[in-house]
Amino acid sequence: MFMTPASEFESPLHRTALAQLDAIAERLNLESGIHERLRYPRRALTVSIPVLMDDGRTEVFIGYRVHHDTVLGPSKGGLRYDPSVDLGEVTALAMLMTWKCALMGLPYGGAKGGVRCAPHRLSLREREGVTRRYTAEIMPLIGPDLDIPAPDLGTDEQTMAWMMDTYSMTQGRSVPGVVTGKPLIIGGSHGRREATGRGIVSVLHQAAHHLGHELRGKRVVIQGFGNVGSVVARLLWNDGCMIVGVGDINGGIWNDQGFDVLKLQAHVKESGSVVDLPGAEPISSADLIEQACGVLVPAAVGSQIHEGNADRVKAAVIIEGANGPTTAEADAILHERGVQVIPDVLANAGGVVVSYFEWVQGLQHHFWRETEVTSRLQEIMTRAVDRVWATAEREKVTLRAAALMEGIGRVAEAHRVRGLYP
Ligand code: NAD
Repeated sequence: MFMTPASEFESPLHRTALAQLDAIAERLNLESGIHERLRYPRRALTVSIPVLMDDGRTEVFIGYRVHHDTVLGPSKGGLRYDPSVDLGEVTALAMLMTWKCALMGLPYGGAKGGVRCAPHRLSLREREGVTRRYTAEIMPLIGPDLDIPAPDLGTDEQTMAWMMDTYSMTQGRSVPGVVTGKPLIIGGSHGRREATGRGIVSVLHQAAHHLGHELRGKRVVIQGFGNVGSVVARLLWNDGCMIVGVGDINGGIWNDQGFDVLKLQAHVKESGSVVDLPGAEPISSADLIEQACGVLVPAAVGSQIHEGNADRVKAAVIIEGANGPTTAEADAILHERGVQVIPDVLANAGGVVVSYFEWVQGLQHHFWRETEVTSRLQEIMTRAVDRVWATAEREKVTLRAAALMEGIGRVAEAHRVRGLYP
């Protein structure tokens, strides 16, 4: 039995990530030396980020960048701006990235970054200040062959453009490969913005095929209507699903007949939120998750399905758009109740797959058409679902356990052949 890693990493998400690793390590019969190494991040940096605010004050934000494991290659992982960010959460998310990249066969380790802030309360100029100073502070840890950040919760293409510019200015040349999820004009990839949502929909189609279901006509509930949730809504609506409930940080809305997603998107663009859409009924975020539906897509923040509500979740299938939306306790309850959970490491991996395409295109200075990106993404996602499904059936385990067995197994194998330095 191992000690729990030092208390500085303590957070609910980190506890869940460790519990998952420990269970899979036992199942895979991992050597204790490799298991113990994987429980700790390789390196973790905490920085303070002083920013001159619009009202003349200087405010100091706290930021982190964590490399969990780099045995398979440079580390890769998003940057999130959220009030809940702490070292434990970022460390857990970095660990998830390690398993995700390995599961998808990408030549990357796992990383994650975060700044504790409420991005929607910051002006554009203040957000730029946070981003540039954060980038300057984590400079020793990032680079095209070292660690490559991408957008995540509360960050977007503009954030990546500021990061790329800040890094490039210190190098005296443009270094597009230092981030992915950049705007097209400075070396971004076609299809990166939609990649995570598109990947989720590919996974869902393939899962429906395995389950013998028809997706068309399914009632869908989506928590989170940002980059991931809004793309999933539009694509599933195009595929004939009914999007009956959606929510964001301000609350939720419901329409038993299904929303016109184009009208919903226009409303969000204009007002900044899904709430108060004309003709929609209001619903609380908590109630939204518990509504009966064919597919529930948590696509906001972590730990939304927990011990306290898992027995009231009435979805037939949950596909995890967000990272870590289901706690370990909730996972066990859902499994017992026969709810099919398609885990984050598989479901939302489309983002990092197209980030990999962007990185490769940048290194080769050769850019692909959108149809090329989309078809390669679909192929990779579909094959991953088939592999995970086969493992789950062969080993008689959940899809999450099967996905983690493959991801963790590959990382462990690489550690085995590389050995322990010095
Ligand atoms: P985003 O910032 O574009 O959108 C987040 C959405 O969630 C917004 O609608 C916001 O209002 C809502 N939200 C935030 N806090 C909430 C709360 N407490 N309750 C309810 N709703 C809340 O972020 P995104 O890029 O869409 O990411 C969403 C999730 O998907 C995150 O967990 C992220 O880690 C995960 N993810 C994103 C990507 C990517 O490529 N962007 C890739 C993989 C996983």
